[in-house]
Amino acid sequence: MSGNRVACIDLEGVLIPELWPMLADSSAVAELALTTREVPDFRGLMERRLALLRAHRLRLCDVLEHLRRAQALPGAPAFVAGLRRSHRLLLVSDAFAPMVGPLVRQLGPGLDLECHDFETDDSGFIERCVFAPRRGKEDVVRRLQAQGCEVLAVGDAFNDLAMLAAADQAFLFRPSPQVASAAQDLSTVTDYAQILRSLA
Ligand SMILES: [Mg+2]
Repeated sequence: MSGNRVACIDLEGVLIPELWPMLADSSAVAELALTTREVPDFRGLMERRLALLRAHRLRLCDVLEHLRRAQALPGAPAFVAGLRRSHRLLLVSDAFAPMVGPLVRQLGPGLDLECHDFETDDSGFIERCVFAPRRGKEDVVRRLQAQGCEVLAVGDAFNDLAMLAAADQAFLFRPSPQVASAAQDLSTVTDYAQILRSLA
């Protein structure tokens, strides 16, 4: 593993499925299906999601139960292992720790994860989001670069674009049509092997 090469990898849509659409399907609350692949305003999106969860009487434990069968994307654990041969890996996600914890464990041992968290009330409803200390994912890249690191970034959605633009090497992974048309200057890939080949 090289000391100064760091890979900042998004989780949902890159290594694991989009969890909110899965929750929407399982709970039959269709409006929960919108993601950062369609909506650029992440904090506004979260306010909407928390209001929907409360309106439909879904507590954090109910959310986790709906996501119990979620699996990492096919090939993702092998991709993670491949990347770790040349890079220190940092998962940089706008997901929430309780929702992604079990999936991150499927991806490999001892992975570093930077994501957000929830605060619940006494009844177990999600009261508010506790956001990671950054304005956007690009802050993580710049912090690493300031420490002398060379940063590779992979992401799929609007909330990744600034991170991808700041990185030394970047890939847009299977973007939605809306994201692809907003980021025509980025290299778009459709499978993990394309990324690993570029590192060889
Ligand atoms: Mg994503």
